[in-house]
Amino acid sequence: MGSLQLRHVDAGSCNGCEIEIASVFGPVYDAERFGTRLVASPRHADGVLVTGPVTRNMAVPLKKTVEATPQPRVVIAVGDCAHDCGVFRGGYGVVGSVNDVVPVDVSIPGCPPHPTAIIEALRGITRR
Ligand code: SF4
Repeated sequence: MGSLQLRHVDAGSCNGCEIEIASVFGPVYDAERFGTRLVASPRHADGVLVTGPVTRNMAVPLKKTVEATPQPRVVIAVGDCAHDCGVFRGGYGVVGSVNDVVPVDVSIPGCPPHPTAIIEALRGITRR
């Protein structure tokens, strides 16, 4: 996969991971240099970038977004909450981790992950 078009879904994050993702695609880290872009539709995407634990209201939209992304696709869980619900584990509005709702291919740990960790993971996918 030489380039990677990603649809981002916030499944219930605190917005901390979004700030780091914005930084990844901002002028300092500029992940587009490596062929990675955020796109507006899952139908234009190679994968889905998911943040946060999956809340009750976002479980169905997340499933639908992943299903609307053409195969072969990659699902990337960004942050500890996406990986194992993090600080929101056990919350009344939380269904589970991203992997509890859709199959996850790559998980990026951290609360939030540093932009360089996100870029390293994305470059690992584009080098496959
Ligand atoms: S991993 Fe940390 S920064 Fe990211 S959504 Fe969870 S609490 Fe917020």
